[in-house]
Amino acid sequence: MVKDVVCDVCGEIILTVSELAASLDNKQITTSAHCSKCGNMVKVVLPSKKAVIKHYKKSISCPVCGYERLIDTSVDTRSELIEEGKMPPEWKPDYYQKCHCCKKEIGIKKIS
Ligand SMILES: [Zn+2]
Ligand SMILES: [Zn+2]
Repeated sequence: MVKDVVCDVCGEIILTVSELAASLDNKQITTSAHCSKCGNMVKVVLPSKKAVIKHYKKSISCPVCGYERLIDTSVDTRSELIEEGKMPPEWKPDYYQKCHCCKKEIGIKKIS
């Protein structure tokens, strides 16, 4: 689980997950950082690239059979899922995904 680096003295966020990801990309090895608020030295443990990617992804489960990994989306994306045969006529999905488990075609609409 990747988390923001937080000062254990005052609770100030030192590095957010996206900043951690950026220093990974720059091959910058940060092992400690100073808290800008209280000056406390905070130990930074860089997460693995895999853990960072996982942090930004979530799996949506199949609305028909409950299969947990129908499709992966970003954590902040909200979607609506309806089985192909049950879609209201005015409901237009953004994409379709076939469930590996029940083989149903699922319509997926991005809400935000
Ligand atoms: Zn602090
Ligand atoms: Zn399914």
